Amino acid sequence: MFETLTKAPADKILALMGEFAADPRKEKIDLGVGVYKDEAGVTAIMTSVTKAEQRILANAKTKTYVGISGNKGFNAAVRELVLADTVDAKRVRLLQAPGGTGALAVLMELLYRAKPDATLWLSNPTWPNHAPMAKHAGFKLDSYPYFDAKTRAVDFPAMLAALDKLGPNDIVLLHGCCHNPTGANLTPAQWDQVAASLARTGAFPLIDLAYLGFGDGLEPDAYGTRAVVKAVPESVIAFSGSKNFGLYRERIGAAIVIARDEAQADVANSQLMNIARVTYSQPPDHGAEIIRTILEDKDLRAEWEAELATMRNRMIRLREKLSEAIKAKSNAADFDFIAEHRGMFSLLGLPGEAVEKLKTDGGVYMIGDSRINVAGIPEDRVGDLASAILGTMK
Ligand code: PLP
Repeated sequence: MFETLTKAPADKILALMGEFAADPRKEKIDLGVGVYKDEAGVTAIMTSVTKAEQRILANAKTKTYVGISGNKGFNAAVRELVLADTVDAKRVRLLQAPGGTGALAVLMELLYRAKPDATLWLSNPTWPNHAPMAKHAGFKLDSYPYFDAKTRAVDFPAMLAALDKLGPNDIVLLHGCCHNPTGANLTPAQWDQVAASLARTGAFPLIDLAYLGFGDGLEPDAYGTRAVVKAVPESVIAFSGSKNFGLYRERIGAAIVIARDEAQADVANSQLMNIARVTYSQPPDHGAEIIRTILEDKDLRAEWEAELATMRNRMIRLREKLSEAIKAKSNAADFDFIAEHRGMFSLLGLPGEAVEKLKTDGGVYMIGDSRINVAGIPEDRVGDLASAILGTMK
């Protein structure tokens, strides 16, 4: 059977994780894999999550299937968290999905069923899984300009000019907040312009919302998504609970469809349920029940929001410290952009040789495109890291 196959391409991040684990140096620093880490370098379980799990365990009566759409309370709570009262709930349908990736997969298949001839546009650069997933769904791909390698900010004029040329046969994948891998994000005013462009051209937005709450806060981070959803008649959102609830391995996310009207929402929803049925059928419940329990309980929700704020503020503090340390050691290079960026990542814009040198000489591991996970920066080693980064520029 398998003689007809060749090996699938290796996952570069997983390979880097292996290299890091095998590196005997005590002073090594892991800025590679995209999970949040606390001061101790641990991806800890949030206290609000543990409390929710204790309640769930104490009250659970059954392990029967939850139904194809998933946990109804979770779906309603996520709709409120992401959209608030942006659109009439009658136009909105949610399908609980296995992680943000699962949500993206079912949504891409839904869009492909609806418009197989459409072109799917990705930001340049984007999360490395977007293109393979979109190809797997069957789409033709193209990309729109996003990151300005000089300023390390969004090249907004170029992005908008590209979006303005699109039409109803185009689907645009937008990162709702905390762009991965760059860390460069749109301002609210720029989001308004993107929303107006989509409304004008009829291009269809597919919003990947994997880091809600990791940027500037739950409300500011939802701004772009809500601006787009409000401006256009139809849109879809892939929500992930992996990062903001720290539920990575529970595989919890939601595919959100906002349709033109209630009847179209029902049609899209029936197709979504059909896609789920023929792939994994019913979703796992544990992560959804944790999120439902937290979001429905005033005290637990406040505790989760506070924990999320602690994580967010730590990442912002590390950004400020690293850019200040680099500035203090050198006036030549300007790394202020690290403090401007938001979310878990920043694309440093270093050449491949510099990334390699950081690894071999300094034991500093980052993705080959020079993306760093700011949550991986040890707070007491910021100076060392600044020197190592500057060392590659000599
Ligand atoms: N989208 C982006 C941009 C991501 O960075 C990630 C995770 O790294 C995901 C989606 C999906 O995450 P998960 O499937 O773990 O929820």
